[in-house]
Amino acid sequence: MSEVEDHPASDDDPLVRERERVMYALSILAVVFLLPFAVHDFLRGRNALASAIVCVVVSFAVDGGAIRLRRKPPIPYALLLVPITGAITVSLATQGVIGAFWCYPTVLFFFFVLARPVANLCSLALLLVATVIVQRFLGAHVTIRFSVSLLLTILIVNVIQNIIRELQRRLVDQAITDPLTGAFNRRHMEARLADALELGRRGTPASLLLIDIDHFKRINDERGHEAGDKVLQGVVAVVRKRARKVDVLFRMGGEEFVLLLPGTVESAGVGMAEAIRQSIAETALLDGAAVTVSIGIGGLQADDSVEQWIKETDAAMYAAKQAGRNRVAPRSRDAG
Ligand code: GH3
Ligand code: MG
Ligand code: MG
Repeated sequence: MSEVEDHPASDDDPLVRERERVMYALSILAVVFLLPFAVHDFLRGRNALASAIVCVVVSFAVDGGAIRLRRKPPIPYALLLVPITGAITVSLATQGVIGAFWCYPTVLFFFFVLARPVANLCSLALLLVATVIVQRFLGAHVTIRFSVSLLLTILIVNVIQNIIRELQRRLVDQAITDPLTGAFNRRHMEARLADALELGRRGTPASLLLIDIDHFKRINDERGHEAGDKVLQGVVAVVRKRARKVDVLFRMGGEEFVLLLPGTVESAGVGMAEAIRQSIAETALLDGAAVTVSIGIGGLQADDSVEQWIKETDAAMYAAKQAGRNRVAPRSRDAG
């Protein structure tokens, strides 16, 4: 699908920026909730279990402490699988089925601090090890219920993560889209033009078309605001039909649009602008009257800033207006 119609893929992992915060909170919870068990087991003489729990608590505390001090957590989160599985194994072997209870929060922990494929791997590893131990110490009757319920938990967390990802994608789309026309908004435009500038420094050309509807105020005054809105949508539809897959359309404001033409020099942009201008003039966007646009074409130049690039393309558009509207004008005089 064309990018003019479609939005770019949003951040694939919506939780990635939250990981340290989640890990910090979980490290505090681990210390607060697990330490009393370690003390209790130690006092009861269950030294192996107490030591295993202390290993888990220390691992969490080391990473949590580093996050608190704004340092990189020294133990990779996936490696916490080792002390956790160790403690659960000891607990299952010495305490029976209550050791299995800890598998469930562990799975949730994996999914909120690890990338999804790694979280799934760690969870399945835990499921496998715990199933073997449960089978050995508690028999098939418990094993089947334990394994199925843990597997179900893993599946449900995956479903929840799918939902979070989809909501995140919709939110990002809304934040960068103009609701009336579906074109990208101005805020997104600035980010995308900055990217084009960066590519320009490495030799890839780009051009802008600044498209302004002629006498739009008159359309609003004579036909009403709703008819005006329909014209805005119609103009966007025509531009999209004419644009290539790689071109990106933005609504800069009111009745002004910017079409970014990546990899296009100014002289080639003039041809595209002329085709768009003609299409709009020939399309019946308003009963009994033609809608026309004036277009400025601005090729990206060395040492341009985003502001300069837009400003000079806007000046070209203004020149097209001055020359009588329903025409195109390039930024550099020798390009057309
Ligand atoms: P020119 O040919 O010089 O560009 O004249 P113009 O009338 O198109 O330009 P001007 O900037 O004077 O008017 C733009 C109008 O666009 C004024 C404003 O009310 C209208 N407008 C801005 N946003 C919207 C919108 O979302 N919907 C509608 N219907 N009108 C809008
Ligand atoms: Mg205008
Ligand atoms: Mg106008």
